[in-house]
Amino acid sequence: MKPLLFKRDNFERARNAMVEEQVIGRGVKDEGVLQAMRLVPRQLFVEEALYAQAYNDSALPIGEKQTISQPCMVAFMTEALGLTGKEKTLEIGTGSGYQTAILSMLADKVYSIERIPSIASRARKLLDNLMCPNVIVRVGDGTLGWQEESPFDVILAAAYSPEIPPAYINQLAFGGRLVMPVGTEESQGLIRVTKKPRGIEKETLAACRFVKLIGQYGCRESDKKDP
Ligand code: SAH
Repeated sequence: MKPLLFKRDNFERARNAMVEEQVIGRGVKDEGVLQAMRLVPRQLFVEEALYAQAYNDSALPIGEKQTISQPCMVAFMTEALGLTGKEKTLEIGTGSGYQTAILSMLADKVYSIERIPSIASRARKLLDNLMCPNVIVRVGDGTLGWQEESPFDVILAAAYSPEIPPAYINQLAFGGRLVMPVGTEESQGLIRVTKKPRGIEKETLAACRFVKLIGQYGCRESDKKDP
């Protein structure tokens, strides 16, 4: 596991309790995922007024109507990617950068795309401060993937779309895994796609609830209802 700038803080007990109760308690076993979540200071990824809630069993607002994902969902998605430390990773929806920091410890390189510039720049600064040198954050429409850097061993999207954007399958390496929520505002399934030489294998892992993936091959921003 790659190190990150780890400082002792007053949240260690809350962090360990979060891992025990919300992560292990819900069946996540991957030691790397558990260890990364014991180390990444989640409170820094929300505004100071929310520090005390940072280890709660919930998503929290991060501004611009977006949220930092629920801890157990971050754990579950990361475990589902099956990381070994060697993966070139594409993350769609940097958001707070919390998931990005976890990925940076468990994968080789992380290419992360965020649609909203102010959110991207805050995440970038924080990840720099925490010394995650293997992360690149870019502003853009993540429904197009990141063609120049493809293929990716794993792709993770933290926002839902009615369909899987075609670029994700195209930009996945053979043997690669894509994990993302697919569905509508009311009903989403967390999907894992494995790309094999003879085609793709698709599994639904769990029910979930994410914000919209807004872009050319995702949801429309203005829609009250999904397209
Ligand atoms: N894992 C993040 C989740 C953030 S919420 C965290 O825990 O903080 C999802 C993020 O996806 C939001 O910041 C939103 O702005 C972003 N997003 C939505 N559509 C996108 C798109 N097409 N490309 C890139 N980012 C997108």
